[in-house]
Amino acid sequence: MSACRFHRFSPLTVALVLAAAWCAAGCHRGPYAGPRHSVLLLTIDSLRADHLGCYGYRPPTSPRLDALAAQSILFRRAYATAPWTLPSHVSILTGLDAAAHGVDTDRAVLGPRAATLAGVLRRHGYHTGAIVCAPLLRERYGLAPGFDNYDTSLIAASYRAARRVKVASSVTKKALAFLDQSTDRPFFLWLHYWDPHYDYDPPPRYVELFDPGYRGRLDGYDIQNRTDIVPGMNPADLRHLIALYDGEIRYTDDGIGALLDGLRKRGLLNNTLIVVVGDHGEEFLDHGGTGHTWTCYEELVHVPLILHAPWLKPAAASFDEQVSITDIYPTVLSLLGIAYDPLKVQGRSLVNLITRGESLGARFLLMETRAGRLHPNGKVGLWTAMLTPAGAKLHHYAREETVEMLFDLAADPRERRDLSAERPAQVEELHAQLLQMRRRDHQLFERLRLSHEQALDRQQTDMLRGLGYLQ
Ligand SMILES: [Zn+2]
Repeated sequence: MSACRFHRFSPLTVALVLAAAWCAAGCHRGPYAGPRHSVLLLTIDSLRADHLGCYGYRPPTSPRLDALAAQSILFRRAYATAPWTLPSHVSILTGLDAAAHGVDTDRAVLGPRAATLAGVLRRHGYHTGAIVCAPLLRERYGLAPGFDNYDTSLIAASYRAARRVKVASSVTKKALAFLDQSTDRPFFLWLHYWDPHYDYDPPPRYVELFDPGYRGRLDGYDIQNRTDIVPGMNPADLRHLIALYDGEIRYTDDGIGALLDGLRKRGLLNNTLIVVVGDHGEEFLDHGGTGHTWTCYEELVHVPLILHAPWLKPAAASFDEQVSITDIYPTVLSLLGIAYDPLKVQGRSLVNLITRGESLGARFLLMETRAGRLHPNGKVGLWTAMLTPAGAKLHHYAREETVEMLFDLAADPRERRDLSAERPAQVEELHAQLLQMRRRDHQLFERLRLSHEQALDRQQTDMLRGLGYLQ
């Protein structure tokens, strides 16, 4: 009898009816909706903390991130481990300082022994994905293992295109497609938003938003090779350059807003742990230079860090304690109840700080670049900076000779007044501490051996030189 009924319908109709019946019987469609928290890591390239509204910036660069921050935990004094893309991202994903993981040159590669956040979460049953946009995050640098999907398709083939391509809306679109994959596992999704990285060329309406009526001729292209962006330049042109950067941040903020809307629509906003962090900052002649990579001044290492976990009852909405991007790794794992080996991770879990207001104690932070330059066209040397719990910051530049500078961030947050000549005893004491921390990082590197060097081929050399990372 039932067979006769089916004869009245086309095979397609029958298939659809059977599929609907199967789903009604319990098949799962759409994002994971179980009891475990999923994790969304948003890294925003070249985003200095002081250009977001939630960090006190006046121009409207970040209404969506500000709204998220208002519902989240905000760390006012978060620091990158390095002023450029590759080492900072490796620090976020391993919980280690740049010199300890060793991926601190453009020839270094993270090896398979590294227990990255993605690898750990995948072993614990997470569906892992990444959508990255920087040439320095391609598979060859070793961050892809641990991810079920490592999507590099938004990285443009040429360096010129990679600097100019607009990706925020595409990252969001791909992210939502990832979330819509049918899965019975929680997810860990890393999204790398890239637009604030130079070149600065936001769509015209974003330029109008931040510098309406500009009549000058300055544009935001080829930042690393410009001779017209120098101290003493026309202030209106410098304002315009900064407005172009701000436009890129707002463009990114819109993309992230669409992502948050998508999460809300899918019922994921309130049960997903969201981490928003900058990989490093950006300079606009703050200390005479442009772009990033070359120094460890605040504009390049002080980054935003926002943690959205609405099921937590935080002791405060924001914290002034100095924290590091290396803290993300242990904090995420602690919040998920997953153990990690503290002998292989330098970051500290922020959970007790968040929930009980417990201080992390006297803690020094280290940040460094092997491409340090005292002046925009100066010789390249190792630039290390160390930050004390009291906000003293020692800069140490080493090539043939050593140059040291001391700043008191509490009194001089923009590092204008070098106190090294006035306080030689403090410099000596901090110098010894800095060398000790470097030795500690080196010993950890030797013990862990997570990375190795690999020669660049011609195409990679051209790409990095075009991005301004090689000389
Ligand atoms: Zn970067």
